[in-house]
Amino acid sequence: MSAASRIPVGLMEGLNQVKKRRPANLSALVNLDLLRNIVFFFFVLRWTRRAFWKVKGRGIIGSLVELYRNIGRILYGYFLRAPGVRGKVQKQVNDALAKTQAKLIAGNLTKYLTLPKEGLSEEAVRKELETLANLDHTKWEEGYVSGAVYHGEEALMKLQTESFGKFTVANPIHPDVFPGVRKMEAEIVSMVLSLFNAPPGAAGTTTAGGTESILVCCLAARQRAYAERGITEPEMILPDTAHVAFRKAGDYFKIKVHLVPCPAPSYQVDMKAVSRLINPNTILLVGSAPNFPHGIIDDISALSKLAVKRKIWLHVDCCLGSFLVPYLEKAGFETTPFDFRLKGVSSISCDTHKYGFAPKGNSTALYRSAELRSYQYYVSPDWSGGVYASPGIAGSRPGALIAGCWTSLLNVGENGYIDACVKIVGTAKKITDKIRETPSLESELEIIGRPLVSVVAFTSRNLDIYDIYDALTAKGWHLNALQDPPAIHVAVTMPIVKIWERLMADLEAVVEAEREKERARIAEGKGAKGKSVGDSAALYGVAGSLPNKSVVVDLATGFLDLLYKA
Ligand SMILES: *Cc1c(COP(=O)(O)O)cnc(C)c1O
Repeated sequence: MSAASRIPVGLMEGLNQVKKRRPANLSALVNLDLLRNIVFFFFVLRWTRRAFWKVKGRGIIGSLVELYRNIGRILYGYFLRAPGVRGKVQKQVNDALAKTQAKLIAGNLTKYLTLPKEGLSEEAVRKELETLANLDHTKWEEGYVSGAVYHGEEALMKLQTESFGKFTVANPIHPDVFPGVRKMEAEIVSMVLSLFNAPPGAAGTTTAGGTESILVCCLAARQRAYAERGITEPEMILPDTAHVAFRKAGDYFKIKVHLVPCPAPSYQVDMKAVSRLINPNTILLVGSAPNFPHGIIDDISALSKLAVKRKIWLHVDCCLGSFLVPYLEKAGFETTPFDFRLKGVSSISCDTHKYGFAPKGNSTALYRSAELRSYQYYVSPDWSGGVYASPGIAGSRPGALIAGCWTSLLNVGENGYIDACVKIVGTAKKITDKIRETPSLESELEIIGRPLVSVVAFTSRNLDIYDIYDALTAKGWHLNALQDPPAIHVAVTMPIVKIWERLMADLEAVVEAEREKERARIAEGKGAKGKSVGDSAALYGVAGSLPNKSVVVDLATGFLDLLYKA
């Protein structure tokens, strides 16, 4: 098809008339044609380049599989919305949410749906707070919860609370009003930078949590790529085990996300696949040290080499590794390169509120240079409210939390963290060994990869791992259910160090009981059909098999709504 034949007939006629009447303007028309051809050419070029990168990144078969999956997802989406199906699906979602509501929301409490006319007395408020703190809950205090509360010792909590009290109204946005908070924040950043062997000139900020640290680092990488390379359609390459906060950053900041598999046996990101996916729009590579699902540290050395060679920003997510990974060596454990000593590492996220034992609402975003950090800043010189400058996403921030963080780092100190590393990582290793060396566990459970830090994840060879998860939940444990592959993990914390043997004993009992049930079902010739299905088994059993997860999205959205049910 020639370019001219694409023009609507009416327009062509009009143009011809113009031509007939005013032959002198012919050259203008030729130029119009030329312009059109140029636009068309760039359009074709753009799509050809995209198609080329796609096929280069995923291969022909990979691209076709992706296409097939997308079509499946779209068709299944239509199916779910079909008359008759939609109503049934909605009813099941509502039933599941009603069950969750019954578990989540305590009855028989005084409700405060509007402001009390007269404020309650101090005594009355204290009494209410006491009731709320003592509501029936999973016992993290006794070590029944994976992750969540990383230290939880009385003495440290008391000191943290004291520090809050001294800085209740403090806000670092006013450094002249609260100079102590400014000093503490700068020192937190400096202490964490030194933990990660940052070079001279390195810089950082504190943030409200790991997600925010990841968001600001992704934003900084994007802003820099725009400023220095003019990239307007940024892309990043993630291990598919990388924290979900990177996908959030992709959505919030319009950075296209490419997920890369982390295959067995190492469960580290597939470096060949990462390399293939790089194109001129790539602004960011990511590695985890370690990742949340499996506790595996990606091959950061290889990622760093690639980042240097291709001149791309590499972010290392050490949110979970926090103060454990930097002390593995001093605690006498195997380690692997992960920090600024690797030349390609541009930024690192480290959560002081995980194994830094700071109160929740604390994390750090670290950069190789102050110049890189400047790309996460937000400055507005012409606002009617005055010249405005903030280091990150938040405006006002709680000085009390910064005080709580600084207090924790000073009180625990290097030897305290090394000691914690010995205990926590030591316990994770004991759990790994126990599962591998106990015949009844070893024959059923398989540890994912070779965890070097605090998280131990395992799948089941023959049983449904979610049945095991539900049975452990019934015994009071709050572990983490994972998907793709179906698995469970435990993130060891200080409270778990004291009770891990109990966890192993319960795990053995549960595996034995599930095996017994399975045998009975087979003997009765029922197979999987005779199963009574627990909550996680129901959720992940269904979710895993769906080509389109919109039902899961509906469920999860309904769950979020429940959180705000007063
Ligand atoms: C916990 C975690 C984060 C950040 O999570 P927040 O809940 O926002 O603090 C990021 N990456 C990994 C690997 C994590 O485990």
